[in-house]
Amino acid sequence: MINLLDNLNERQREAVLKTEGPVMAIAGAGSGKTSVLTTRIAYLIFEKNINFQNILAITFTNKAANEMKYRVHQTTGINTSQMWISTFHSMCAKILREHIEYLGYRKTFQIIDDDDVTQLIKSILKKSNYDIKIYLPKIVKSIVQKLKFDYDLIEDVEEPFKSVVKIVFKKYQENLFNNNLVDFEDLLTLTIKLLESNDELRKFYNEKFQYILVDEFQDTNNVQYRLVSLLVGENKNIFIVGDEDQSIYAFRGANIENITKFKKDYPDFHLVLLEENYRSTNTILEASNQIIKNNANRIPKTLFSNLGKGEKIVHFKGVTARDEVEFVALKILELVRKGYVYNDFAILYRANNTSRMFEEVLMQKQIPYRIYGNTSFFKRREIKDFTAYLRLIINLDDAYSFMRVITTPRRGIGAVTLDKLINFAAANNLDLMEAIDRANEVLGKSICTKLLDFKNMILDFRSKLDILSFNDFVDYILQHSGYVKALENDEKGDVRYENILEFKTILSENEQIYKDLSKEEMLVYLLEDISLKSEESKEDIIDGVTLMTLHSAKGLEFRVVFMVTMEMGMFPLGRSMNSRKDFEEERRLMYVGVTRTKELLFLTSANVRQTWGETSQNTTSCFINEINDELLDTKGYSEYVSKPYRETNFLSKKILNTAKLDNLNKYNKNDLNKGDKVTHSKFGLGLVISVTGDNCIIAFPHPYGIKKLLKDHPAISKK
Ligand code: ATP
Ligand code: MG
Repeated sequence: MINLLDNLNERQREAVLKTEGPVMAIAGAGSGKTSVLTTRIAYLIFEKNINFQNILAITFTNKAANEMKYRVHQTTGINTSQMWISTFHSMCAKILREHIEYLGYRKTFQIIDDDDVTQLIKSILKKSNYDIKIYLPKIVKSIVQKLKFDYDLIEDVEEPFKSVVKIVFKKYQENLFNNNLVDFEDLLTLTIKLLESNDELRKFYNEKFQYILVDEFQDTNNVQYRLVSLLVGENKNIFIVGDEDQSIYAFRGANIENITKFKKDYPDFHLVLLEENYRSTNTILEASNQIIKNNANRIPKTLFSNLGKGEKIVHFKGVTARDEVEFVALKILELVRKGYVYNDFAILYRANNTSRMFEEVLMQKQIPYRIYGNTSFFKRREIKDFTAYLRLIINLDDAYSFMRVITTPRRGIGAVTLDKLINFAAANNLDLMEAIDRANEVLGKSICTKLLDFKNMILDFRSKLDILSFNDFVDYILQHSGYVKALENDEKGDVRYENILEFKTILSENEQIYKDLSKEEMLVYLLEDISLKSEESKEDIIDGVTLMTLHSAKGLEFRVVFMVTMEMGMFPLGRSMNSRKDFEEERRLMYVGVTRTKELLFLTSANVRQTWGETSQNTTSCFINEINDELLDTKGYSEYVSKPYRETNFLSKKILNTAKLDNLNKYNKNDLNKGDKVTHSKFGLGLVISVTGDNCIIAFPHPYGIKKLLKDHPAISKK
């Protein structure tokens, strides 16, 4: 134990030793907040002889909870599986599993995930005869989820959604209850209900949890705050750590104000200031400070580090996105030659689908990697569906792809029919396409027509391969196969469609690379490449580069960090740029990313990139321009664009003077109302269904459907 405290600085020790009463350590990144929290648990157990069952530690992700358990295990040797170190959700599940009967549920209740919720909402909408093309299950679900935390918000919903949501909400709740199901929101709200309605039980937990510790407190929402308040007993031994500059979940209801609330609710709180950063070089720290200080209404912090000045931050700008990706991969290889290991690297991005470009090049260069939070691009269902189409087009006798394509989307050809066709083909030594021609020998007339239609469709696709560019070829298949139409009814349809567009980008890129080959040969190469890639298992990698979104990188640290796609519109996201609140949250995300770095930080961007099948030219992210030149080493394509700018109401003049924010200037004010006709530069003519705050819902014709968009987006103009 002595050893343990020896590793801490004086302030950190103070945070560990002040075990009684409310204690708050709101401090900058890398100052040892999480370290202090875990040391405190060890200290309570060893020095204060507190039974580990009387300690409750809460954090935000399962990964963070596991990390915390691991650290406690390392220092105490205790089997942490029995400890109350968990996320809010799993803590609640544990409490409910014991006592949910008080609320009328059975102990065997099951937790349903987000996909199940959408399915359930969809079936309720359908059964109630609501048009799910208008009342998109995904949108209804997100409203229902918000209402679960605060039903009064129903007043903000406009008709006709309001009435529909009211009914769906009621039925949804009944449905969950009757089937003994709880969703993620229930885990929190039911636990609150339990503790509020049952004094005895509340007292039990107040006495049980003598010490409560919460990490990443800046990201608690109001419901979580209430829950913590209910659990804290009379002794008020609550220890919170956090950093308001790292609050990045406002979009899910996190409320930075909870820190202020804490001060009010526990006026005798003890404040510990942690100012020494043990993670990053001073260059990294200075840069992070130069960025975050542009946010309004924050308490300035001083952070220092004894790790020296370190290397400059590199900003690499590629001519194309491919350049950018190559730079990252080659840099990793170069640094590995110098003694770094793959685990030292993280590639952090704003949008999930950015991983695709990197996966491809990392594989090519045989750099091991692991992706957090999403499935490998090539293993996604829609990509597998689409490659099955391409395979079948090239090899009409590919039975495996045949089976996938013929049922995707559904075309009224069922399992029984297919069984008969397969048996017939086998008996007569035919492939399935050939068997279709003679299907009338075993199948009825109408089903034979369906099969023939299918075959003709595939042959038609095949005939288009040489005529159309890959871009048009993909579109043609998507339209004529009914695939896009089917996506409209898929709750993940939007994302799937975007991924297919991303796939289109891969095809177009290859069209350039394999110029001398025939289209068919090109496709063969490409598909082979893809199948090799998708067979690679990434799960068991011991040493590998980490690929993750900026959001999931919270709390982690790496020797070398690459923050990629640093362009206006990509990061900060385009949609964040007309609200100060959202824009500042993007900046905090930037701060989180930069402060993950221990030694080397690379910020990369491209002059031209293809996104979702379209070429775009973005200016460099304004966040890079917020870093002083002397900390930056700029490499690659040099831009000298100087475009006029117009001051916007929320960006500080300083940034506008240094950044080339032409994208920001494009925002217009659209005075939209329900029933207005609009044109959208990409989706064409549309009809406004509703307007709520900054957002509006617009119906566009096939294949785009109903979209939720920013009212003032430059792509929209009123007719
Ligand atoms: P974040 O805000 O990113 O969550 P944090 O404040 O929780 O960061 P930690 O992750 O606890 O910071 O610590 C950052 C790094 O500093 C870790 O590698 C940790 O081991 C190290 N560290 C913390 N305190 C000390 C110390 N007193 N001496 C040496 N290293 C330390
Ligand atoms: Mg931490």
